[in-house]
Amino acid sequence: MEFPPPYAVDVALSEHTHDRAGGRRTDQAWLDEVWADPATRVVVLAKGQFPVTDDGDVHWQPPADVPEGQKLFLGLVDDVPRFALVAEDVDEEHTWAMLWLAGPKLSKEDAGLLVHATALAEWHRAHRHCSRCGGVLQPMDAGHVLRCTSCDRQHFPRTDPAVIMLVTDGERALLGRQAAWPEGRYSTLAGFADPGESLEQAVAREVMEEVGVEVTDVTYFGNQPWPFPSSLMIGFFARAVTTEINVDGAEIEAARWFSREELKEEAEAGTLLLPGGISISRSLVEAWYGAPLPGQW
Ligand SMILES: [Zn+2]
Repeated sequence: MEFPPPYAVDVALSEHTHDRAGGRRTDQAWLDEVWADPATRVVVLAKGQFPVTDDGDVHWQPPADVPEGQKLFLGLVDDVPRFALVAEDVDEEHTWAMLWLAGPKLSKEDAGLLVHATALAEWHRAHRHCSRCGGVLQPMDAGHVLRCTSCDRQHFPRTDPAVIMLVTDGERALLGRQAAWPEGRYSTLAGFADPGESLEQAVAREVMEEVGVEVTDVTYFGNQPWPFPSSLMIGFFARAVTTEINVDGAEIEAARWFSREELKEEAEAGTLLLPGGISISRSLVEAWYGAPLPGQW
């Protein structure tokens, strides 16, 4: 078999890049001007949710229609400024959706904007005080920087790198499951990179810790922003040097090797539930399998 597998798949949430127009973040006069323009479009975010239309699309509103809250400048789409507004709570006027559930139904453009907005909003929600002195933080740069009002330290949005990997012995792929999951659900192994660790080292360490398998030939596949709350999932293939499985019993309850035939048959029968279409985990599995697969969470 070729390694890495040749089948190319798109990774959801990674395909569209809007014009972030970062240079405008510090231009308060321009930000005020476009906020007063009824052509500007705003998505409201509250408690990790956003309003959707009856068709399931993102409900973009003019600035005059949205409640008070923290404004986040996302960028430009066809020269139209796009903002997110972080509100305290959802209202009863709209239907609200969560990105990780609604993502597959969104246009690529809206998915890209909502990933950006969700990552920033989650960062604001989790960072109320200065991590150095405990002072109050004040947003600046259209929501992309937080400045401490006591010690003046600037805080920037953080992204936590996590590795996610499909381990193969050439003929079979290794998938694992967590105890809390419904019966039949399996996924690729994953874990956060440790401080001072390379991504390749993190792949090898996590696989050894979770299932006791030694791997080599760690090969980059693709990456996916996963702002729930702040991860960047970095996908790899890895080749197994050993095949005996010893699960840690903590993060991973069970793991097993799947041939391509087993993957297909069990997914079709509904006894194997693979990760959802929006996840890079599914992209990894389908890239290795060589085609789309049925059955998902
Ligand atoms: Zn401070």
